[in-house]
Amino acid sequence: MTEHDRSASPQTSSIQQLRTTLNGGRVITPGDASFDEARTIFYGGFDRQPAAIVRVRDASDVSQVVSLARENGLELAIKSGGHSLAGHSTTDGGIVLDLSEMKDLQIDLSGRTAWAQTGLTAGEYTAATAAHGLATGFGDTASVGIGGITLGGGVGYLVRKHGLTIDDVLAAEIVTADGELLKVDSESHPELFWAIRGGGGNFGVATRFKFRLHKLSSIVGGMLVLPASPETIASFIAEAQAAPEELSTIANVMVAPPMPFLPQEVHGELIILAMMVYAGEDVDEGERVIAPFRALAEPIVDMLKPMPYPQIYPPEEGDYHPTAVGRTMFLDSVDLAEAETIVEYLSTSEAPMRVAQLRVLGGAMARVSAQATAFAHRSAAIMANVAAFYEATEERAARERWAREFEEALRQGEGNKGDGVYVNFLGEEGEGRVRGAYPGSTWEKLVEIKGRYDPTNLFRLNHNIPPAIGQKETSDG
Ligand SMILES: Cc1cc2nc3c(=O)[nH]c(=O)nc-3n(C[C@H](O)[C@H](O)[C@H](O)COP(=O)(O)OP(=O)(O)OC[C@H]3O[C@@H](n4cnc5c(N)ncnc54)[C@H](O)[C@@H]3O)c2cc1C
Repeated sequence: MTEHDRSASPQTSSIQQLRTTLNGGRVITPGDASFDEARTIFYGGFDRQPAAIVRVRDASDVSQVVSLARENGLELAIKSGGHSLAGHSTTDGGIVLDLSEMKDLQIDLSGRTAWAQTGLTAGEYTAATAAHGLATGFGDTASVGIGGITLGGGVGYLVRKHGLTIDDVLAAEIVTADGELLKVDSESHPELFWAIRGGGGNFGVATRFKFRLHKLSSIVGGMLVLPASPETIASFIAEAQAAPEELSTIANVMVAPPMPFLPQEVHGELIILAMMVYAGEDVDEGERVIAPFRALAEPIVDMLKPMPYPQIYPPEEGDYHPTAVGRTMFLDSVDLAEAETIVEYLSTSEAPMRVAQLRVLGGAMARVSAQATAFAHRSAAIMANVAAFYEATEERAARERWAREFEEALRQGEGNKGDGVYVNFLGEEGEGRVRGAYPGSTWEKLVEIKGRYDPTNLFRLNHNIPPAIGQKETSDG
């Protein structure tokens, strides 16, 4: 297509027209000063050139963009926080619906709920609700968007105490493929409400969520760094499983990077960099609960202390765009044998940074039935992610091979159980891996609901659930 053809195409004139019809939103196209900044996502390695990025301001803008993409056959990428590991929030030649300027937050203090627009990040939401001593759990990183993390499940520092992020979703507003804005909850469109709690961006654009808020003004927690050996890794996991569910932990077993907060003599050595949150009311009890972790070995760094909850999110560099590959899985146990495997793989990789991240689950997350939402891995004991960073593109294949072999060495269980994955930690890994996120009847139900709400698969730039063929486009509300 020549430059002239492109400027004259019906898509281009429809995009141009949007500039006059949007309700406050902005259209950014190639050549605009902010285009390069606007097309950048968190992960490096995705150098895509959208035809346009539309920074929407409200649900009616969203509806217009959805309709434009549908009518013009344009690939549609949805971007909230831009942290997709698979690069799904950008597109070559399509349109990016960018929600990052939709940041309204309405807190109902007496009802302990909040209506939050999906352009908010986890950090922004957490800071605003913490001002009232209230919190909803998201993940471990402030800059992750509440849009993507919530639709996939949401596993974070309150997972054992309050469950997944979706367990605190009381309602949502969704713009569906036909451009209609639906309010969904347990009464209205209950099947769509079920599907968006774990099923990702397959069913429409979430413009707002209504979250439950929990009382949480301060925590006991922060960072604890220990030397990593098979014994300390296995003991850390055993302690995390034995701890009361007020405590959620994320143990990053990794080669110590040359960072100023780590003493020089450990740089290059294997460490457990653990992030811990005790979300109970009593500070003394919190100190008692974390004491066994401090006793596992002489801590290299001990920053565990009482603190306001938002401080668990360390400051981030705005211009950090890592290139990495990873594999996600669920494990039943990490005993000495698994811990030895972890040490062996981390010791043999040449990647500048490589990590095995272990999250002990259970507690409130496990008390929700596997059928209650589209996230079915409720009984998983541990979530593990292994990842390797790379610099040059030529290194990628070797890093991927390492990650796959590492995963195979750790995997436990057969069939659905052994193949289980957390959708939000998937890269572009093929259909079989997406199936692993939705075991058994969850998949069939999602396919059926997809067929009803998005029969032409307009929302396909995601971990895709293909629509059931021949499904009528009727709502269940
Ligand atoms: C550094 C880092 C740390 C992470 N830590 C955690 C963690 O602790 N716990 C955890 O559970 N996950 C974690 N994740 C994974 C994270 O939940 C997913 O990457 C998530 O998709 C990011 O959401 P986002 O809005 O930032 O991403 P985006 O790239 O904007 O969106 C990702 C995809 O989600 C869908 N989507 C996003 N917003 C909407 C919307 N409003 N409507 C419809 N579809 C939408 C789209 O399909 C989109 O392609 C982490 C990721 C990174 C990069």
